[in-house]
Amino acid sequence: MKRVLTTCPYCGVGCNLYLVVGDDGRLVGVEPSVGHPVSRGQLCIKGWNAFHFVNHPDRLTHPLIRRGGRLVPASWDEALALVAGRMREIQDKHGPDSVAVFSSAKTTNEENYLAMKLTRAVFKTNNVDHCARLCHASTVAGLAATFGSGAMTNSIACVEQADLFFVIGSNTTEQHPIIGARIIQVCQNGGKLMVADNRKIRLARLADLHLRHRNGTDVALLNAMMHVIISEGLTDEEFIASRTERYEDLERLVAHYPPARAARITGLTPEEIADAARLFASADHAMIIYAMGITQHTHGVDNVRSCANLAMLTGNIGRPGTGVNPLRGQNNVQGACDMGALPDVYSGYQRVTDDAARAKFQRAWGVRGLPRDVGITSTAAIDAAAAGDLKALYVIGENPTLSHPDIRHVRTALQNLEFLAVQDIFQTTTADLADVVLPACSFAEKDGTFTSTERRVQRVRRAVSPIGESRPDWHIICEIASRAGYSGMQYDSPDAVMEEIAALTPSYGGISYSRLDGPGLQWPCPAADHQGTPVLHVGKFARGQGVFRPADYRPPAELPDDDYPFVLTTGRNYFHFHTGTMTRRSRLLHREERFPYVEISPEDARSLGIRDQQWIHVGTRRGEVRVQARVTDTAMKGVLFMPFHYVEAAANLLTINALDPEAEIPEFKVCAARVRSTP
Ligand code: SF4
Repeated sequence: MKRVLTTCPYCGVGCNLYLVVGDDGRLVGVEPSVGHPVSRGQLCIKGWNAFHFVNHPDRLTHPLIRRGGRLVPASWDEALALVAGRMREIQDKHGPDSVAVFSSAKTTNEENYLAMKLTRAVFKTNNVDHCARLCHASTVAGLAATFGSGAMTNSIACVEQADLFFVIGSNTTEQHPIIGARIIQVCQNGGKLMVADNRKIRLARLADLHLRHRNGTDVALLNAMMHVIISEGLTDEEFIASRTERYEDLERLVAHYPPARAARITGLTPEEIADAARLFASADHAMIIYAMGITQHTHGVDNVRSCANLAMLTGNIGRPGTGVNPLRGQNNVQGACDMGALPDVYSGYQRVTDDAARAKFQRAWGVRGLPRDVGITSTAAIDAAAAGDLKALYVIGENPTLSHPDIRHVRTALQNLEFLAVQDIFQTTTADLADVVLPACSFAEKDGTFTSTERRVQRVRRAVSPIGESRPDWHIICEIASRAGYSGMQYDSPDAVMEEIAALTPSYGGISYSRLDGPGLQWPCPAADHQGTPVLHVGKFARGQGVFRPADYRPPAELPDDDYPFVLTTGRNYFHFHTGTMTRRSRLLHREERFPYVEISPEDARSLGIRDQQWIHVGTRRGEVRVQARVTDTAMKGVLFMPFHYVEAAANLLTINALDPEAEIPEFKVCAARVRSTP
């Protein structure tokens, strides 16, 4: 037996774990890392089962090429030449922006850096994006605009220094279980907890105050809380005066949100809103924790800015135990953003529109003519494919036919492409549509780094040999670059890629593999002797002064009506992850949650004559799926909740393709739905 220390491949908490390898070279188990500052000897159920899928018989083991309408085995040479050749051919015919690349929050930092380098240096387009577009694009835009940096401001360890948690739009115990458990421990020792979420989630059942506001009314709630804080003189005047600008804009706007008005919008009482404001403002160390309940809206950026406004108004930023803390969903969604797998920035958020940044990357990469215009987002790319404007797409480790909204539209769009290449570890529903499928290695078969939600850059280490003929993503991306005629992507190892990242990315300047043997480093880590940064914005915001950016309430794109009387909201459950590609191939996790389901309130179930575990149909204007009813008081009357892990009843067949105008993130959290019993 050997034990290899690595990082969990599921959520953004970034627990470290040991992969246990048997004498036959196969993974046989997982052990937690006792000395790691986040894991501290604990893992959630997904972490404990993070090895089953690696040896699953469904793993892709050979490249596949579509011939005569069928995907058939091919050699690596054929497959790589076809990808490089077709992308080039299509660009020659239709121009550089006729192709796009979807990079991946599941792959390493090095692989994301290479995907964006391939897109920019070789394909000469900025059309690169990844699934942060679907989860935290609003965070990147909203916090960058207010603080100057779009990342979690504090560390997970700060949970133990907080007096009050304001958890809004985060089912923390299910989505980020190790952080959820820490919050509960602090609250058992006197910490206060306030939860804003109309589902009666586990944290809500333990909360001092539970706000069950209507879906999509967060801005009205937060504005009214700030109205009370200002009118009752509970602001941190010294912080506002010395650290912020444009306070008057906020004061003017929230004057229009007295609790009585917000109560009509949110469905709360004015007293609940005032109590929330006073509880928040009375804490010395208040920590705002949010996730996709805040970001996945057509007003997701406004939601994020409003959280930032509340923190600045009360001086709860730039100190341990405070801050605005977006919990990142995927293991490396923070890193994929940091590495510039986004259409507007290079690594370290250096803008593609900045002449100096462009010149710097041109010099380093030995190329000319890096594109100046911002590329298209992944959501816009789907629409562009449907319209016939985007002709070719190279998808690395993503599954848009399950993860994007309105997947009927997504399938039509992908079928409209002239060429689709998919690189993954399993044959996903997106890979089913591909012209070429490239088999990639899982996290257990390669080296690299992931960056967790608290900006902690940590090692991923190879524990077992690649399955079949699969190859690490970094290797495949570099081979495509070579075959496309570019010689600047020939590396011996991911270590060498990290050296290049550090040289070009100021916030990663002090990061090297030799410094990551311990528990990792939190960026900004600008120099080799820098110890990393657990808390951002201490004494000064990344942009200098923090800026208040108030927002007016805007309703969701689609609200219930006579034909579709329910609100449908979507998310994850404790046992599964994202599109279920890995967790549904872990037998213990699959055993716990086998069927697609919808949560419905006891009142609604009674009035529709629906029993617990009865199979029912849930439909929206986009489609209909058959799921099991879960009758539970977790659900508020009038609201349905569905996890989106289940291919056989895909929640995203139902969701709406309505986007935030700035971040272009879809409104996964609200659409109008109806329910009918299955005979
Ligand atoms: Fe993995 Fe997240 Fe669970 Fe930790 S909390 S073990 S990182 S899934």
